[in-house]
Amino acid sequence: MRIKKAKANKNVNSDPVKNFEKWKKRYDKSRKQTKRPNKKRDWEIERENIQKLVDKYAEINPKEAVKFSDFPLSKKTVKGLLEAQYRQPTEIQRQTIGFALQEKDVLGAAKTGSGKTLAFLIPVLECLYRHQWTAMDGLGALIISPTRELAYQTFEVLRKVGKNHEFSAGLVIGGKDLKEESLKIHRTNIVICTPGRLLQHMDENSTFHASDLRMLVLDEADRILDMGFADTLNAIIENLPKTRQTLLFSATQTKSVKDLARLSLKDPEYVWVHEKAKFSTPATLEQSYVVCELHQKVDMLFSFLRSHVQKKIIVFFACCKEVQYLFRVFCRLRPGISVLALHGKQPQLKRVDVYNDFVRKKAAVLFATDIAARGLDFPAVNWVLQFDCPEDANTYIHRVGRTARYKEGGEALLILLPSEEQGMISQLQEKKVPINKIQVNPDKLVSVQQKLEAFLAQEKEQKERAQRCFVSYLRSIYLMKNKDVFDVFQLQLPEYATSLGLAVAPRVRFLDKAQQQRLGEAPESSTAPDREADQELESFKAQLRGDRTSMQLEEEEEDVDEEEEENGELPRSLLHSAEEQEDEDLDLDLLTVKRRDVFNIDDGQDEKPDAKQRNKKASKFKEVKKVLKRNFKVNTKKVFTEDGETVQEWPQLQRTVMPEDEDEGDGETSGINVEAAKERLCREDREFDKKEYSRKIKEKHREKRLKEKAARREASKRAKEEKKQEASGGGDEDEDEEVVAYLSGVDEEFDPSTLPDPDKVRDSEDMKSDCPELARRKRARGSNNDGGSEDEHEGRWGTGRKKAKQQALQAEPLDTGLSLAEDEELVLHLLGSQS
Ligand code: ADP
Ligand code: MG
Repeated sequence: MRIKKAKANKNVNSDPVKNFEKWKKRYDKSRKQTKRPNKKRDWEIERENIQKLVDKYAEINPKEAVKFSDFPLSKKTVKGLLEAQYRQPTEIQRQTIGFALQEKDVLGAAKTGSGKTLAFLIPVLECLYRHQWTAMDGLGALIISPTRELAYQTFEVLRKVGKNHEFSAGLVIGGKDLKEESLKIHRTNIVICTPGRLLQHMDENSTFHASDLRMLVLDEADRILDMGFADTLNAIIENLPKTRQTLLFSATQTKSVKDLARLSLKDPEYVWVHEKAKFSTPATLEQSYVVCELHQKVDMLFSFLRSHVQKKIIVFFACCKEVQYLFRVFCRLRPGISVLALHGKQPQLKRVDVYNDFVRKKAAVLFATDIAARGLDFPAVNWVLQFDCPEDANTYIHRVGRTARYKEGGEALLILLPSEEQGMISQLQEKKVPINKIQVNPDKLVSVQQKLEAFLAQEKEQKERAQRCFVSYLRSIYLMKNKDVFDVFQLQLPEYATSLGLAVAPRVRFLDKAQQQRLGEAPESSTAPDREADQELESFKAQLRGDRTSMQLEEEEEDVDEEEEENGELPRSLLHSAEEQEDEDLDLDLLTVKRRDVFNIDDGQDEKPDAKQRNKKASKFKEVKKVLKRNFKVNTKKVFTEDGETVQEWPQLQRTVMPEDEDEGDGETSGINVEAAKERLCREDREFDKKEYSRKIKEKHREKRLKEKAARREASKRAKEEKKQEASGGGDEDEDEEVVAYLSGVDEEFDPSTLPDPDKVRDSEDMKSDCPELARRKRARGSNNDGGSEDEHEGRWGTGRKKAKQQALQAEPLDTGLSLAEDEELVLHLLGSQS
């Protein structure tokens, strides 16, 4: 059948030319048909899809959006959301995504844990998708977070939901290699950053530019817009194009027109999801507070942890040094729960480690400063305990917002001092925070004071930490703006010191001074320490006026100390997490003894000889300082004559090493200010160099003056000689020699012994004239020795020099350069001629 068919076909298309034309037509037609859809698939279809989505933007109805797919979103985004288990938008997402897609500026406010992150990440992805952004287009969207941890967390969420897009995303935060970041940043489409680091790139990285930026997002916008970041943010905004879209999100949104003007928002859409809600905190959050004295707080915390060992807890403190000290002692107190610490003085890697550690753990307590107060989404936190009163109601709301997130439950406990109660509670009520007072059962309080005292007695470092904790806490209270809540003068300082394990309260100079001023007492005579206290006070006052917020102060402090830790200045044991610490504690008192890097988290910091040496130097310096401070007489030695009279007293050690006015930075702590010491040494070096330099200059001038003087004398003498020669018609060789001898001498005074024996000179001259042969030979020898002809010497040195040479020759025993026999012959010849 098949063959027949073929034959029949062959008969039908017998003309090969016609056949070919037919075939070609068919081929061209089919090519056209296949080519068109191919082209569309590449970019036309994409464009059509985008257009279809954009066309739907105007019809977005938030009320009808039940699922994410109800929004006109790209397939890639919806897929990413589903894969990350996000199906239904939360209220803030529902209400803001539409506006953001329509390219409007948005101010979004919703309670903590209500899903604000996706409310801006989805529009970011859609914006770049809409503009078909590629790696070649560079930076398209910028997301600014107030802390590194929050930036990191946002980056992780973006990675999850945006994984089907081809955009590149980068995390630009401090504590990482700037150079490495610089190489990548200009090719990054979405940058998530902290303000300081971003500005650093803008200032220092020539390849980084944001001129094509389409979208700017400020997460925790009110924090980024507050005083602490004001200058940095203004500088950043200067570098951004005005045509961009801006989104602002926070649980405590800014309403300040001035702030919004700074960002040049264009008719922004205000979305206040919970504006009419009864409370400003999550409904699933139970909140209470207790009032206790400052010196009871540590016992309170210990007792609380002992009774919540199965829970996940965050404890907020006022300052880093408090966290550092209490973390250390609580590790040793072993409350029965893992203790972790997160604060700005840790190196970045440690911060990330602690963050991830706490995310993973089911039961643990995290001691933290306010760097953990905003935005962080630790899963399943049961309790937020505020050991120190927050700066204001907003900070309170953000701190407690670390629990009861996204429909989960949570509890919060605030510890207040009697002096703080009224002011703080009225602020919270104003902000619609439902909080109840509860009582502490004093019988249930476990005292840890004696244990702390014992720790401090064992470890000097610990004692210093306790002192720093004491001072830092007082300073943080002193710096608080709201004086209705925070009154440092009402604190019972000796009791507080004792509760930290200190035998005596460290002296706090700025507080003494402030107290004096408060009581209207005349300031004492302005001694150096007082001047220092004054300066301290002035800078604190500037801060209180609002130049810098206390949060920013902490961040500034953080940067410095981070360096310290990275340099290995702080003991390695501080870098261990509590779990690791507990393991070590099981082995009795091994905290101070063990120095091995069991968990390999140290990067060999222990090995750093630098750090060791520095510590050694610092301690020596400290010893010297102590001795000087007490004004001991060191190495004083008296020598007596036989009659018992003192003839020599060794000088007492000078105080220039440690001037009075440059005593320890704080005064209140016994820590050493190595930086000040370095500076002092540099200054001393500079002074020494300066003196040495001027001494050398003086010496040079003196030499120059002498030479000039000598040259003048020579010139006048020569003139005299010439006159004399003209008058007498002959030269007096002796006088000539004198000049030469003087010139060649280095001593200022003329030494006649340097003059040659006049007789020899005369003999020699005679010899020269009488024996031309010897003179020729001598000339030849002289030229060999000096590497040039006698004439040359004459030209270079002048007559004086020539004669000096002759004088030198004659002053030495006469060496004719001849053999002994020749010498004898010569002498006989001379004697013969003389006679
Ligand atoms: P906020 O920034 O408002 O404090 P987040 O964006 O951190 O809140 O989200 C809080 C929690 O809610 C996160 O764990 C997040 O995964 C979860 N979440 C956010 N949006 C959704 C959603 N649409 N569906 C389910 N969970 C969500
Ligand atoms: Mg957030």
